[in-house]
Amino acid sequence: MSTLDQRDAETLFGNRFLTDRAPATSFPQSGMRPTDAFRLVAEDLALEGDPQRNLATFVTTWMEPEAQRIIAENLHRNFIDHAEYPISAEIEQRCVRMLADLFHAPGPTTGCRTQGSSEAIMLGALSLKWKWKERRQAAHLSTDRPNLVFGGDVHVVWEKFCRYFDVEPRIIPLAKDKYTIGPEDVEPHLDENTIGVAAVLGTTFTGHMDDIVGINDLLLDIRSRRDLDIPLHVDGASGGFVWPFLYPDSPWDFRLEQVRSINVSGHKYGLVYPGIGWLVFREEADLAEDLVFYENYLGKLDATFTLNFSTGAAMVLAQYYNFVRLGRDGYTYVMKQMQQNAGALAANLRDTGLFEVIGGDAEQLPLVAFRLAGEHQSYDESDIAWQLSAERGWMVPAYTLPPNAEHVKIMRALVKETMSREQVERLTRDIVDACATLDTKGGTAHVERETTKKGTGY
Ligand SMILES: *Cc1c(COP(=O)(O)O)cnc(C)c1O
Repeated sequence: MSTLDQRDAETLFGNRFLTDRAPATSFPQSGMRPTDAFRLVAEDLALEGDPQRNLATFVTTWMEPEAQRIIAENLHRNFIDHAEYPISAEIEQRCVRMLADLFHAPGPTTGCRTQGSSEAIMLGALSLKWKWKERRQAAHLSTDRPNLVFGGDVHVVWEKFCRYFDVEPRIIPLAKDKYTIGPEDVEPHLDENTIGVAAVLGTTFTGHMDDIVGINDLLLDIRSRRDLDIPLHVDGASGGFVWPFLYPDSPWDFRLEQVRSINVSGHKYGLVYPGIGWLVFREEADLAEDLVFYENYLGKLDATFTLNFSTGAAMVLAQYYNFVRLGRDGYTYVMKQMQQNAGALAANLRDTGLFEVIGGDAEQLPLVAFRLAGEHQSYDESDIAWQLSAERGWMVPAYTLPPNAEHVKIMRALVKETMSREQVERLTRDIVDACATLDTKGGTAHVERETTKKGTGY
């Protein structure tokens, strides 16, 4: 160090953040070289979870190199700028038409890309509210107290919608051994102020579906008996890309008459990286006209129906890439491969004698929901999640179910496209090993940990 001062030495051999703390509390006055900035960010992230071992998330963690190239080459394209980028807009519409076809829409219809299912659900539910208002106003009736009916098995976004947009949530509680809802649960909650019913195709908790056929039948019956036309929205965030391929003969979509709108996450089983969801209406008339805005800021009159404005076009293009690259055959292959490996994991877990698998015989997302079998005094599912992560880095969440099944604690492992059969065996061994460690050292089930709280993932 005799001839070099500290800064020169850093420039030559290292980078500033080997010895400096990262800027974090105030807007930095001076900048830094791109290499320093790059290494600062990259090294910070190096200690983050490894997505490949994240069996908690429904969101895509792997895409083909060609898809990645499409994304990388189109990051500078603003999707909302239809005047400048009409082809991206046309590609969005192709995707909407393909989804409408996949979901058996009876004729030409409408829909849009969104940031994810959450935005799609907000927009779909707003349309339910506005259509209800139109019906009420036409009959000169009050529009003061709208309500929305759904089960405790829904994603948090449904309650969020109700609070953000001032709608009374009518939430049907779950019960022991009943983790989805059916028509008998829904019926008592319906009245003339119900803007709609939301049913889930592939719940976040156990991967099963609500009795959508039964709820549709109930709503048809109410329509004819009570002259009350209550629409059904299907939250197919996960299931919308699974059921058409694994269970093509099981109706849940526009084959059922009261299903007026469907959301699906492109970034879950649509197999695209995060930032893409879809909303599809049964027919154009199901989109409340008042929610569509016309503007000409970008040089051309354009209609917008979104909560966001500017956003990237890359994920729309990546979704279209997947549709044409895979087609029905390809998606079916991928879904079946995941289902087969999920089945292998479920069988392995049962064979250990330690676990029971929840609803493995019913139609389900390709995942395994399981819990400890019998009585375990010394540790519980949260301890296993913790131990498994500490020993092997697997992220498998443990969480409690919603009311009134909150005494039931379960674990859930997503079996993704990249999880090979060999990894299924390895995961099984690692779970058994984690339990063996816990047998000797005991658990700490009384400690409320983050792994439990963040639970259900997304
Ligand atoms: C993930 C999920 C959502 C939210 O979807 P995002 O695409 O993450 O916004 C809503 N409903 C269900 C059933 C989900 O699984």
